Amino acid sequence: MGIKFAKKKFMDRLEDNLSNDFMRAAMVKAQNLINKNRTNVYEELGNFEEWRTLAGDMRQHTLENLDYYLNQFSENVVKNGGKVFFAATAEEASKYITEVAKANNVKKVVKAKSMVTEEISLNHAFEDIGVNVMETDLAEYILQLDDWDPPSHMVVPSLHKNREQIREIFQKKGYKGSDKPEELAQFSREILRNEYLTADMGVSGCNFGIAESGSVTLVTNEGNADLCMSIPKIQVVVMGMERIAPTFEEVDILVSLLTRSSVGAKMTSYVTFLNGVTENEAVDGAKDFHIVIVDNGRSKILASPFKTSLRCIRCAACLNICPVYRHIGGHTYGSIYSGPIGSVISPILGGYDDFKELPYATSLCGACTEVCPVRIPLHNLLLIHRQIIVEEERLSPKAERLIMKGFTAWTTKPRLYKSSTKLAPIATIPFMTEGEITRGVSFLKKWTNTRNLTGMEKVRFRDWYKKRQKEGKK
Ligand code: SF4
Repeated sequence: MGIKFAKKKFMDRLEDNLSNDFMRAAMVKAQNLINKNRTNVYEELGNFEEWRTLAGDMRQHTLENLDYYLNQFSENVVKNGGKVFFAATAEEASKYITEVAKANNVKKVVKAKSMVTEEISLNHAFEDIGVNVMETDLAEYILQLDDWDPPSHMVVPSLHKNREQIREIFQKKGYKGSDKPEELAQFSREILRNEYLTADMGVSGCNFGIAESGSVTLVTNEGNADLCMSIPKIQVVVMGMERIAPTFEEVDILVSLLTRSSVGAKMTSYVTFLNGVTENEAVDGAKDFHIVIVDNGRSKILASPFKTSLRCIRCAACLNICPVYRHIGGHTYGSIYSGPIGSVISPILGGYDDFKELPYATSLCGACTEVCPVRIPLHNLLLIHRQIIVEEERLSPKAERLIMKGFTAWTTKPRLYKSSTKLAPIATIPFMTEGEITRGVSFLKKWTNTRNLTGMEKVRFRDWYKKRQKEGKK
């Protein structure tokens, strides 16, 4: 599956989600709540802009020296008794992990929430070799039980489901209780506890790999990642190659911004540091520890105008503020990475053929850029995509290209321009109601079906200006 999960075309997905009233109400509620909390915790800090500058600079410094820090990190992982595998592609990453599973006769895997394992389709790779894989994050567990429904949000993957829907999903597993969150959580807890105790392998993502020590940081709320990465004896961490921090000092600042930006909290319930293989006498911890560092297109981004997008710490603040995401929801994007950052990275990781619409699914208001804790200029990156789509890839519709050619010819021929602007107020009369264009033709109809266009002024600007000059006015 990779990052793409949708079979339907973008416009069909859009129609589906725009008519999903529950999903839209859930988005509005979640956005309002998270944004309010986020604003409060940042106000407490008092100097959010300085924190953002510091964090952005740190991430950029790491990207500029990524080879050095990756090398330092992997050397330290090996010193700690772990094994490091660099995967150039998603397939290589999944293959390595499934080979480890096969070599150790693994029958069951417990997994903590991780976007990069979605990206490399790890769950399906496990299923293909007959390994039973269990998602242990509650939201991911719900999606798994619902036939691997894709996530609609990076931090709250099942945001599009309500309590009643979750109850129905759990009923397939024998649940008989109500739709109260406490009861639903208790039910899943009882099932999952047993899974941790009987799993042969634990898999997690990685918030940050720390170069100076070879440690891995996990930032979670439910404690499931800690269980996944302490009970099974074989442990695998999958990380995007950009998720490196040079020292614990940077991690301190980045985690602080991550929790504030993602859920509007000063801290999450658990911040865990994994340090490789544990001593022989320890009752818990890994006896076999693997880190899979995934490139899968990131080197390409590193050498492109989209390099700053690799600063991303996956906080989802840009999703939570985006007015477009608010209305269309995560599934419309058709990528596991949704919202503004999804619109930037999905076309690079998955190609323009599948994701060329995403850079246009934006109002370019810049709200995402303003909240991003690591100062990624998201809306500018979306404009760069548009430029590439039109000028380099030539993927814009033929009709649009013809219209733009016509527009260029019209606006670069002064006589034609002058005479046509004189005629415009008369020519548009059949399409107007009370001074506004309300009846568009052809593709303009789509616009005027939902809003009006301001009608042409009877007096052109150039005539008005000339008149003023003649009257001696400025
Ligand atoms: S782009 Fe910025 S705001 Fe969006 S998820 Fe990444 S770090 Fe957070």
